[in-house]
Order: sequence, then C-alpha cells, then structure tokens
Amino acid sequence: MNLDTPIKEIPRIGPVFLKKLQRIGIKTVEDLLFHFPHRYEDFSDIRPISKIKVNETCCLQGKILEIGNLRTWKKRIILTEAIVEDKTGAIKVIWFNQSYLTQTLKQGDWVCLAGKISSGKKGIYLSSPAYEKIPVINDKLSMTNLTHTGGIIPVYPETEGLSSRWLRYILRPLLIKLKNEIPEILPLEIIKKYNFLPRAQALWRVHFPDSISSAQKAKERFSFEGLFLIGLSVLKERLKLNKEKAPAIPFNVNLTKEFVASLSFKLTDAQRKCTWQIFKDLEKPRPMSRLLEGDVGSGKTVIAVMAALNVVRAGYQVAFMAPTEILAKQHFQEVTKLLRPFKIKIAFLTGKEDKIISLKLKNEILEISRRKLLEKTRKGEIDILIGTHSLIQDKVRFKNLALCIVDEQHRFGVKQRAHLIQSPMSNTQHRIIPHLLSMTATPIPRTLALTVYGDLDLSILDEMPKGRKKIITRVIPPKEREEAYNFAKEQTKFGNQVFVICPRIESGKSKIKKETAMGWDEVKAVKEEYEKLSKKIFPDLKIEMLHGKMKAKEREKIMKNFKNKKIDILVSTSVVEVGVDVPGATVMIIEGAERFGLAQLHQFRGRVGRSNLQSYCFLFTDSSAKRTRQRLEAIVKADDGFELAQKDLEIRGPGSLYGVKQWGIPDLAMENLKDISLVEKTREEAKELLAKDPELKKYPSLKERLEKFQKRIHLE
Ligand code: ADP
Ligand code: MG
Repeated sequence: MNLDTPIKEIPRIGPVFLKKLQRIGIKTVEDLLFHFPHRYEDFSDIRPISKIKVNETCCLQGKILEIGNLRTWKKRIILTEAIVEDKTGAIKVIWFNQSYLTQTLKQGDWVCLAGKISSGKKGIYLSSPAYEKIPVINDKLSMTNLTHTGGIIPVYPETEGLSSRWLRYILRPLLIKLKNEIPEILPLEIIKKYNFLPRAQALWRVHFPDSISSAQKAKERFSFEGLFLIGLSVLKERLKLNKEKAPAIPFNVNLTKEFVASLSFKLTDAQRKCTWQIFKDLEKPRPMSRLLEGDVGSGKTVIAVMAALNVVRAGYQVAFMAPTEILAKQHFQEVTKLLRPFKIKIAFLTGKEDKIISLKLKNEILEISRRKLLEKTRKGEIDILIGTHSLIQDKVRFKNLALCIVDEQHRFGVKQRAHLIQSPMSNTQHRIIPHLLSMTATPIPRTLALTVYGDLDLSILDEMPKGRKKIITRVIPPKEREEAYNFAKEQTKFGNQVFVICPRIESGKSKIKKETAMGWDEVKAVKEEYEKLSKKIFPDLKIEMLHGKMKAKEREKIMKNFKNKKIDILVSTSVVEVGVDVPGATVMIIEGAERFGLAQLHQFRGRVGRSNLQSYCFLFTDSSAKRTRQRLEAIVKADDGFELAQKDLEIRGPGSLYGVKQWGIPDLAMENLKDISLVEKTREEAKELLAKDPELKKYPSLKERLEKFQKRIHLE
C-alpha cells in the first residue's frame, strides 16, 4: 500500500463508507491522509474521579461497574447509563440515544472517558463522553494506544455522515503503516529555512498531535506546501507561455488617435494607462496574457476595441467572446458602433447550428449562413468575430488570429488559443499562439491575484468615467419595504426602470447541503416574486421575469424589450443576464441581500447608474442579525469592488468568491488564500526555485507531486 492506493483497498473501509468518502472527493490513500481536522478537542487532562468539578471538561479512567439502557418516560429518549469507578471514587455516566453502546462497552471493561461533567436531577454525571476501551496488553492496561480520549483529539469536518470517531479509527493504523511511504517533497533549503517538520512526521502530528500548538505548527508546513504548489504550477505555466511565439502587433499611433477622436467622450487616465500596458504587450512576439479588471461601467469595451483595431490593421483577426448570447450581441452592437468609421468586417456567431448570422460588412448588416460565415473566417475575410463559447467549437477556425478577447470568463488556456488557428502546426517550436486579453468586473483580491491568477498580468481600471453619479445604497428592513416600493413606482413615472434580483430559494423537499445548487430553486423564487409584484404591489406596471430555465430566444426578447423601455420592472435571478447594459434602469432592488457576497452585491449595483441619472440600490433583508447588518452596511459605504472582495474573502472565505469552488484547490490551501504574507512568501520561494531549476530536475519527488497536483486543479 502506498499513497496512490485507492481507498477501496483499505481493509477497514466497507462499501458504505467508501461511497461517503468518494462523495467528498477522497479517492486515494493520499486524499484520506490529507483530509485534515478542522479543530482539536483537548482531552489530555486525565483526572482522578475525586478531583472532578461540575462544568469542567476532563478525561477519566476507570472500570465499568454496571451499564444498561433505559427509556425515559416522556421524551422517548433512550439513555445509556453506567457507573464507572477508579481508585478514588465512582461516577455516573449518561449517553443519550446511543443504545448500541451496550454492545461495545460491557461490565468489567476498562475505559477512558472524556467529556463534560454536568449536574442535574440525577446528581453529578459525566455527560455523553467520548469513550474508548483501554486495551489490555500482557495483562496490563496500555495507555499509549488511545485514539479518541486521553490526549489532543482531532475533530474533522463531519459531512456525509463521516464521524470523527470513524476517521480516527481509520487514520491511525493507516498512518502507522505508511510512515515510510510519505516522501518529503519540499526542498531541504526550504525545510531548514522555515524550520518545518519532515513531511511524514508533520502528517502524524496534524492528526495525532501531542499538543495543540504542535498540531498548528505541523499544519503550517502543509499550508506552505499547498500555496507553494499553486505558485509553482502557475509560474511554470507562465514560463512555458513565454517560450511561445505570437504575432508582434505594432502600435499604430495615428490610427489610435483617429479612433480616440471619434469617441463621444474623453478616455479616463486609467483607460489610457491600461491601453498602454496592452499595447506594450502586443508589440512583443510573445503571447500576451493579460487580465483587464475594472468595475462594471468603468469602460473596458473601448480598450478592447482599440486593441482589436490595431490588430486588424496589422493584418490579423480577432476573436471576441462573451459568456452569454445576450452579452455577445451587446458587444457586437457596441463594437460595430465604435468601429463604424473604420470599415472593418465584424461578424456575430451564435451557438445554434441553423441560425442565420448577421455580418457587418461595409456598414451594412448582411445575413449569411453559418457555413458561409465559418468559411469566411477560415479564409481570413472576417476581421473580428464576436460570439459566445461557441467560438471555441471544433468548426471555428481562423486564418491568422492574433488576439482573443474574453469577457467575464476568467481563463482561456494556451491550448484553446492555439486550437482556434486554422492549422496549428504540429511542431510546437514554431506554432503561433494568439494574444489573450481577458476582462472581468469581478474584483480579484490581491492574494488571489498573486496565486491562482499569477500567470496573468493585471491591468486595473480603477477610475470611473466622469459624470457618473454615485449610486445611493440603502439597507431596507421589512418595515421600510413599502416605502421603497413606492419610491420605485415614482421612478417608473419618469420612464425609469427597476431591476429586482431574487436569491434562489430552498425547494422545500430536501435539505441538501446549502452550497449545492440542487436544493435551491431559482425559478420558483423568481416566479413567486413575479406573482407578488405584478398582482399586489405594482398591478399597473409592466413586469416581466427572467430566469435560466427560459429559452434563450425568449430571454433575449425580454431583455430587448427591457432595454427599449417596453418593460418597467424586470424580476431576475442572480445568475442570468445581469451583465446587460440598460441605461434607463435607475433602481436595483435585491431581495434577501444577506444571501449574497459583498462583491456580488456590488456587481448587481453596477447594473444601474449607467447613465447620468441618479440611481438607487435597495438591499432588502429580513435578517436583523448584527453581523448581517454590518456586512450590508459595508457595501452602503464602500464603492470600491476590490475592497469589498477582500472583505468577502476575509469574512466568508475564498469559496464565496465567484467560480472559486470549481478550481479543485485543496481545502487547506483554499483557507490560506486569505493569508497575504504566506502567499507572498510561497510565491517568492516558488519563483526562486524555478529560476534555479525550471524543470525541477533536482527535485524529483516535488516534480511528481506537482504533476499530480496539476491534474487535480482546474484553473482554466
Ligand atoms: P464595462 O467596463 O462594464 O464593460 P463598458 O465598456 O460597457 O463598461 O462601458 C460602459 C459605458 O461607459 C459605455 O456606454 C461606454 O460607452 C461608456 N464609457 C466608456 N468609457 C467612457 C469614458 N471615458 N467616459 C464616458 N463614458 C465612457
Ligand atoms: Mg463589459
């Protein structure tokens, strides 16, 4: 048996537990050993019975004088009662609803018990203690092999019915058996420098420590290890990319000046700065990998268009991708508008096989078949192709693609980029990779920018176009709802429009874990809200709803009508189409605001205030918890998305950030993504090591571990 052994080969794990483990992603022995406790119980205080005190937690050792089950009268609870005696005295022990205990614990057994001393009608007793028989070896009690009591006891996150007790029972023998099979992976220099324990020893200490501080110390090593591996894999990708070739795009000053002069507004300084950074990258014969980050409405599209224009004039093609069809269409309209004076061939490709495609050619809209469009793209007759993910499909090929612009999709791999080119040459030495400009309105906290996004260069748009009014944000408790609705109604009288966002609601039937989308029903939430608003609250207004289960066509129609002011109020889920630009919307109402992350609320808020009209954001909440109020107040005050994202990260952890759960990063590393100093340290070390030994030739076990790690995580 070694670390790669599948868990089904572990003798003590039967089919039921096998399933449970697999459900939480534990497949190999290694996974199991790296399923860490989240806290520890200190049961190291072993006391003589005569020294116990009520309300204290302690550990007792004694012999069971009697034990049995009895049913309580009224409450139908089964009590297991025992009397346990040591040299100094005896005490009653009570367990609740664990009648099976009498099959394990028998009269005459020696036991170690740990728990809280309580007092009640039945006098003083030890309440539902952790228990463990003391093994008898050579007629002597053996105190050294205790697992659940008599020391610092690990407590694991108890999901899927996996008890800590069971995990300890499995882990202890496993760790003993494998103590020579856990290779050191960190370079010796690092171990020395940070004074880490050897890996195998640290692993033992995490699960079975002799003190809480030594457990913490051992965990630190693995915290380092996790972030170090992320650092290495991200930086290695980067090194690989730097060896690839891309078309160098010269910066066409006159062209760019002409474009800027054609705009109806002046670029912000931030827009100039970011554009400059992008042009600097494009000039190099290496593929750019740049993430342009800027709040909703900060004006990312013009920047992308400037880059695209330069690329097209240099004789190459551009692919422009958006996450949804509506957004893609919006980009198509925006881009064609901005590039109108430049006679550029822009096409829009939809996801559906049989759809007709509009093509902007010589400033006329032309409808051509999909087949024709793909052919033109392949021949290089289309300059800019705009669409959804469908652009990455097998059939789409470009003749000389030099730039991929990806909106709100975060990642787009080198392989995907290479794939879009007509005939990727098999000789990787000479293949051409297009530049990548990724854009997002999701603010990425600094620690994440350094780790998981570390292979991307960042350009930050930290300035809003002038003339935008600050959105007035308020937290609305139940008693002020009516007032807020009246306010919204008033706004519609001036032709302004209202968004209502609903969180998913529990579908009632099952109480599946909250995080899993299965137990939550977005459609139901929207339908209920729609009913309420259209029948009771705004019967005179035109209300429509929008959710993910509707057909794309239908959604598109509604969005179009909303944009054209044919709809007053749009009730929508949080997940669909909120990226669409509706300049007439001035009120954003968010139901159940406490259910959303701060950064997410901030994103919703950014959907209004996209014109010179004063806009409002109402955070509806029924929760009066102080913590909730404080969190929501933070968004009332702050209008900086980065600040809010960092707060989210601190309060709710990285898992609350958009898309992060899908990365498959181990829990411990995930937890440590909050820790800026550790993040910086591990990144520096990873950088230094790769500078010395880019292929990790001198560190075979680290290399092997890294390869395994990379198979697991999906940052793309
Ligand atoms: P986002 O960053 O959310 O993608 P957009 O690029 O859609 O933002 O820009 C939002 C709106 O602001 C658009 O209507 C755009 O024309 C406008 N805009 C962009 N830059 C400026 C600027 N410097 N001054 C005024 N308006 C601008
Ligand atoms: Mg945008």
